[in-house]
Parts: sequence; C-alpha cells; structure tokens
Amino acid sequence: VGNELLLGATIDTNGAWLGIQLADLGIPVRERRVVADHAGEIAHAVQECLKNAELVVVCGGLGPTPDDLTRQAVADAFGLALHTDPELMRGLEARFKRYGHTRLPEHNVSQAQVPQGATVLANPRGSAPGLLVPAPSGGWVVLLPGVPREMRGITLEEVLPRVATLFEDRLQPILQRWIRTTGIAESVLSERVSERLPGSIDPVELAFLPRLTGVDIRLTIAQGEGASSGAHLLEEVEALLAPVVDPFRYYADETGDVVEAVSRRLARAGQTVAVAESCTGGLLAQRLTGLPGSSQIFLGGLITYSDPSKIELLGVDAALIASHGAVSEAVALAMARGARSRLETDWALSITGVAGPGGGSEAKPVGTVWTAVVGPDTEHAQHRRFPGDREGVRVRSAQAALALLHSRLAE
Ligand code: ATP
Ligand code: MG
Repeated sequence: VGNELLLGATIDTNGAWLGIQLADLGIPVRERRVVADHAGEIAHAVQECLKNAELVVVCGGLGPTPDDLTRQAVADAFGLALHTDPELMRGLEARFKRYGHTRLPEHNVSQAQVPQGATVLANPRGSAPGLLVPAPSGGWVVLLPGVPREMRGITLEEVLPRVATLFEDRLQPILQRWIRTTGIAESVLSERVSERLPGSIDPVELAFLPRLTGVDIRLTIAQGEGASSGAHLLEEVEALLAPVVDPFRYYADETGDVVEAVSRRLARAGQTVAVAESCTGGLLAQRLTGLPGSSQIFLGGLITYSDPSKIELLGVDAALIASHGAVSEAVALAMARGARSRLETDWALSITGVAGPGGGSEAKPVGTVWTAVVGPDTEHAQHRRFPGDREGVRVRSAQAALALLHSRLAE
C-alpha cells in the first residue's frame, strides 16, 4: 500500500522479499497488487485477493499520519470495531518517553488500535505492531508496516511461525537447485540442454535466468508433487545436464557471484591475485573486493587507462603497443605479467578493450576485449567480442576475466 510505490519513487522490495519467504515456507503466492493510500482501494484489493487466496499480507499504511489508512480500511471492510489495546498504549507511551517526548502525540494513538478478534504481532523495531485479522468470510489478513526493517522482523518472528501452524498439513515447500554458468550464451546453452533432455522431466521445472554476468539455470520441484523423491529427481536431472553445463559451471550458493567460487579456491590454495585494468577502470578490483575476507586473496591492482601508464606502471614494452595496439593479445598478456611481478602475487588478471560508444575501428570494433590470466605455470589470453552498451561491455569484461581465472583454478 502506498502512493510512493505507484509513483515509482519506492520500489516494492517488500513484495520480493515476502515472495521468497513464503515460497521457502511452502506457500504458493498467487498474486501481488499495489494500491494507493486510499481506504476504498485498500478494502477492495483485500476483498478481491481473498477470493483468490486464504492468506493476504498487506504492507504499508500502518503509520500515524492521515495517509495511513490500512488498519481502518480493513476493519471497516470486515465490519470489525476497533478498540484501543491498553498494553499497546502503554508500550507506545513508554517508547515516546524514551525518545524524550513528554506525551504521546495524538496521531500515534491510532497505532494502539486493534480490530476486534485480531492478534497483535509485536514490532520491537517500531511503533506500529503487525496485526493478524481473521476475515469474517474465512481466510486471514496480515497487516504489516511498510518500513522494510520492521516488516521483515515481524514476518520472521511473528508471521511465518503462525502461518506455518495455520497451514501445517498443506505446505508445499519448493525444492530448488541452481546451476550457475558463465561464458556461454543463453541460446547456445538452452539448445544444448534441450538436446540432453529431449523428453519430459515433469514434475521438475527448468528455467533459464540470463544476467549480464552469465546464465543461471534453476531446477525446481514442488514437494507436494514429488513428495520424498523430490530431491532425488532434481539430482537426476542435474546429473543428466552435467556434460553440457560443467565446463561453464561455478558454485556460489551465497551470492551467485563467480567471485565467491574464485575466492574460495584461492583461499584454499593459499594463493593471491592482482589485476591490471584498462577499459573496466577498476570494476574487476571492485568485484574481487566485494566479499568479506577478500584481503586474504586480493593484493591490489593497477588501473592503466593510457598507453604511458601501461608502460610505466606495468612495464609493458612500448614497442608491443606500437606494433599490436593496446587492445591485443600481446598487451593483455604483458599487462597481466606486469601486475603479477609488481604485486608479487601467484595470479594476475588483465583486461584491455574497447568499451565504446566511441573508439572502435573496423579491425577492433566496440566490444572487442582481450582478457588474460597469468599464473604459476600458465598463461592464457582470450579474445571476446561483447554485445551491449558501454556498461554492458565493462560488466561482461570483468566477468570474462574472472571466468578465465576460475577455469584455470579448476584445472
Ligand atoms: P510508518 O509507521 O513508518 O508510517 P507505514 O506502515 O505507514 O510505516 P509506509 O508509510 O507505507 O509504512 O512506508 C514507510 C517506509 O517504508 C517508506 O519509506 C516507504 O518508502 C517504505 N516502503 C513502504 N512500502 C514498501 C515496499 N513495498 N517496499 C519497499 N519499501 C517500502
Ligand atoms: Mg506511513
């Protein structure tokens, strides 16, 4: 609930977060609506949703200001009287005293109001509690504040445990498996997957989720359908796909980021990495330092945007740049060697390319990128021609360099 959501000033992250929590618990989500701060609209939406679902979660509009109408709207729609809960009143008064107010502002009194028959869901992080309201015609409505921190707290501590009990015998948790790949186009991957899985894999569902940094495959199965064999079925499909996906696959359960896989391998081997970047301007270093504990594996990097900086900071031979150009296999390798020796690491990565929109030529059009990896006994450079705008080329370049390191470490 909220005009700011309709206007696009606030993005509905609450809905996304709740969707994940409910799916994890085994509650299939049928629909999501966004409505204005308008009592009639709120009441109408709740009534409509109740035709479709047994549980309706409403977030937002529980605050103390005149545009916060959710509590009253739902009570009116259900014909339930609101009464002031003395315990909530005492809590509110104490809260305001703690923050230096001598008395409770009149507007806040509404936050102590509870529809008849509703259960109060404690909100230790804010002033408006959540409410669990039984709908007179059947079903349940949960009212939550819009502030994400408060909404999440009440959901985890109060709502999910109660909902789990209410729907105990009918929960359908979704089992899922992620196969994360990088370095293969979605169309190519889906073609190869179709060849491996010509028949039906029902009740397992397979989805391709392309990102700038790679393509994720998600395998899901609703447990109700596969019961105890669900996990086993997922494993079977995963094993069938292994020959196709394994060369491009990385494991990153926490972040979905290949950096997670690379960092884990480096840390396990007690090895370090440095970077030399041109067109990505530090993006690769940013990626590598994005995870906690990165100081264990990442020693530093050099952003060498100009030719002289490549020569002076990395020791790239000027003649190499003159004869091959800055965007070339020879220079990419020389940049990585330079970073590795100057920062004294086990591994080094380099990127040199044309991010665009200007700067392209017939021989080296926009999107032309060389990445290189140099390690203890290996040197490898890779040429790519990336689609996309400047940002797309930069993100893909950093990802390609990381993927290159990942594949060398896997060997
Ligand atoms: P308060 O007591 O603070 O007024 P409230 O229940 O009235 O809480 P809102 O006024 O609707 O909640 O929203 C409070 C804050 O939470 C706003 O900053 C709003 O942008 C943010 N917010 C509201 N709904 C969402 C949502 N669906 N996703 C993300 N943020 C949201
Ligand atoms: Mg508000």
